[in-house]
Amino acid sequence: MDENKKSLGDLSTNFWKKEFRCPCPKCRRKKVRVSSLLLFKLEMMIMIIDRGLNFHRPVIVLSGNRCEEENKRIGGFPGSEHIPAPDGEAADITVDSLTPIELGLIAEEVGGLRIGIAKWGIHVDIKPPSPSKFWIYIGVKPVYSAKIENTSLIKFYRIITGKEGE
Ligand SMILES: [Zn+2]
Ligand SMILES: [Zn+2]
Repeated sequence: MDENKKSLGDLSTNFWKKEFRCPCPKCRRKKVRVSSLLLFKLEMMIMIIDRGLNFHRPVIVLSGNRCEEENKRIGGFPGSEHIPAPDGEAADITVDSLTPIELGLIAEEVGGLRIGIAKWGIHVDIKPPSPSKFWIYIGVKPVYSAKIENTSLIKFYRIITGKEGE
C-alpha cells in the first residue's frame, strides 16, 4: 500500500480540523464543524485528482470555517456557507499543478457542488444552486452563471473568459 494514502485526517481520510479552523484569534478553541457531505465530496475529488497517479496530490484548504466577524473582515458574502450553521458547508481549495478551471471541472464531475472559480483556486459548497451553480471572479467581482449558462462549467467559463480552459 502506498504510504501516502494511509488514513490520517481527524475529519476524514485526507482532512484535518486545523485546516478548516477559522483563523481569527477568537476561534482558536472553538469546535471545528464541517459538513460530512462536503468532506465526502472533497474526498471524491481527491480520488479523481489521484486517478492513475502513484502519488497523492494534496488538496490545500485556503479557507474552511469562518465566524461572522472573520467572514466580514475578509469581505465574504453575508450568510456565506463558510459560516458554520451548525456545520460549515464550504471550502476554498487549491491543488499544486492544477489550474482553477481544471480543479473546478473535477468538482463538477463529483456533482452536487456550487463552484466559484478564482485566481487562487476554487470555492465549493453544497448549497443547491440558488439560482447560480457556478461563478467566476473577474477581479473581486463574481459573475454568476444563472442567466448565462447553468449546466456546463466549461461552457460558462469560455463565455466569460474567452479562454478554452487552461
Ligand atoms: Zn473566527
Ligand atoms: Zn469560499
